[in-house]
Amino acid sequence: MGMLKALRGTKDILPGEIEIWQYIEQSARDIFSIYGYREIRTPIVEEAELFKRSIGECTDIVQKEMYMFKDRGERNIALRPEGTASIVRAYLENYSGQSPHIKKFFYIGPMFRAERPQKGRQRQFHQIGVELIGSDEPFRDAEVIYLAVEFLKELHEDEKDFCVKLNSLGCENDKVAIMQKYRESIKPILSSLCEECRTRYDKNVLRLFDCKNSECNKILEDVKAENALCAACTNHFELVKEYLNDWKVKFIIDPKIIRGLDYYTKTVFEITHRKLGAQDAICAGGRYNNLIKDMGGNHTPAIGFAFGIERLLLAIEGEPPYHMDEKLDLFIVATGETLYNEAFKLLNFLRRNSRYSCDVFFEEDSLKAQMRKAQREGAKFVIILGDEESKRKKVLFKNMDTGKQEEVEHNEEVILKKIQGKIK
Ligand SMILES: [Zn+2]
Ligand SMILES: [Zn+2]
Repeated sequence: MGMLKALRGTKDILPGEIEIWQYIEQSARDIFSIYGYREIRTPIVEEAELFKRSIGECTDIVQKEMYMFKDRGERNIALRPEGTASIVRAYLENYSGQSPHIKKFFYIGPMFRAERPQKGRQRQFHQIGVELIGSDEPFRDAEVIYLAVEFLKELHEDEKDFCVKLNSLGCENDKVAIMQKYRESIKPILSSLCEECRTRYDKNVLRLFDCKNSECNKILEDVKAENALCAACTNHFELVKEYLNDWKVKFIIDPKIIRGLDYYTKTVFEITHRKLGAQDAICAGGRYNNLIKDMGGNHTPAIGFAFGIERLLLAIEGEPPYHMDEKLDLFIVATGETLYNEAFKLLNFLRRNSRYSCDVFFEEDSLKAQMRKAQREGAKFVIILGDEESKRKKVLFKNMDTGKQEEVEHNEEVILKKIQGKIK
């Protein structure tokens, strides 16, 4: 029988690697809390309809990448391909009766898309994101973008290494106008595009830019559409840019940022990183002012972003001073079975009271083998229970860093003080 392996596009995050994840997650929790965001955890499975309605029927995500299945009750279920739709659903279910006020959520968790696995792209991938619900003020757009930048700085990323790209899709009417302009400029070259692009041309012309066919990408590269924002949306976008300038956030305007999801309106943005190239964003976000209304709620403007953790890892690899300490602090070794009970008593006491990581390795009988194990595990201290010392109510206390070994009274409190450095 063959050995079972993790599914293609999924992977184990092992000790030694998990520390970087914890470092990223903790940095996110720290900085997002400072900005008034609170964590929300929504289910990994939802009704497939939720994503079809929010992300859009003719997006790649829904058409090709979403994991869908019928459960035992014949319901159409999907593994969540992104975070925003679930949070909007949770918001409507839990807070919609309340008077409108701003809600700030952040989330950390796995998402699922059946894409071709490649560097920084997994079928189970992980995102960290925020959603700010209940405001259409331009300063909120700037605040959310500022937070994304602050998060990267929290991870010790240098501003020189990443780039904030900004665009505005405008309101619903503006989007219709922009799409019309794109349709006009694409019409003459439509016949040279792939079949899928030609189908999408009528349904949602913006989706042509998500086409994974490199021929199409090349042809569409030079396609431009004049800005078609109304006065209010132009003003909104100008204010966002002004705030960002005032707050010393560097950004560039990129009309190609049109995001592969249907629900975006007004401000959209991406952050790219030197180490991943211009095509792969480590962060993407934007406004979705109509989504909550479209999902059955009151008109509630909102904005958010998501970072891909796998992509972040590629960006920060090897750089920040994250804690990679796999070492055990303390080992207790004993010369024979008669001393094991004494050792366990001391072990339980030290685990409970010192908060140091402690262990024994009595799978090996000999003191030598136990010492070798302690060395391999990188223990800082080893406490040796020997027959000789035991008779005199003593233990040997060895500092592995200095190699210094001394006799100490076999007394839990004394040993605790010793490892805490309170006794020289
Ligand atoms: Zn507008
Ligand atoms: Zn195409």
